[in-house]
Amino acid sequence: MEDTPIFPDPPVVTVERTLAIIKPDAVHRADEVMEDIKSLEFSILNQRRLRLTPEQASDFYAEHYGKMFFPSLIAYMQSADIIALVLAKRDAIQEWRDLLGPTNAVRAKQEAPDSLRAKYGHDQTRNGLHGSDSYHTAEREIRFMFSESITEPIYHGQDATDYLQSKVNPVLTKALTHLSKQKPEDPLTWLAQWLLDNNPNKPKVTEVDT
Ligand code: AMP
Repeated sequence: MEDTPIFPDPPVVTVERTLAIIKPDAVHRADEVMEDIKSLEFSILNQRRLRLTPEQASDFYAEHYGKMFFPSLIAYMQSADIIALVLAKRDAIQEWRDLLGPTNAVRAKQEAPDSLRAKYGHDQTRNGLHGSDSYHTAEREIRFMFSESITEPIYHGQDATDYLQSKVNPVLTKALTHLSKQKPEDPLTWLAQWLLDNNPNKPKVTEVDT
């Protein structure tokens, strides 16, 4: 007879993270969605409200590039703010997908009236909420939504010109004037150091002896 181990292996509990998105058509009901998420015992590890540019929306949905609905999906996803959420729970990925219900919110209302898309969605494209469909997708989507690279929309046209004129050109002009007077051996390293030393957003603090 086998001895019963004194310290049995602990059960394997797989707490997963998944990316949820409150899409433009449901953002005005974000408080209600959050309440639902909490009452379903998901932890919200991170959240942010953001507006995707068309480029960012296309990158996010790159797997659907070429499909008939791709242009309308991108137009919709960049039309207004969204809220990205990192949810955590045991088997979070599958459970969140199951709770969402069918992709098409019209079908969800008929076939799964208790689902979240039945509650918050409107149609096939404007379906209220998103959920990652696999572990690898979740990792990629979380990195995508919470990377530093998408904090701000990319400026275009006159907005880009105004931004460069007000924020970049004055500092660069000053730096390049100094550089052409100094003529350092390694101009790029010199320029990088000058910008660090003269960052207008981080003025030098001079310690004063008291
Ligand atoms: P999925 O990657 O399956 O989450 O699909 C991405 C999103 O594309 C869905 O949440 C819908 O908003 C949209 N979508 C998917 N299939 C269709 C379709 N056949 N027609 C229109 N929009 C769709």
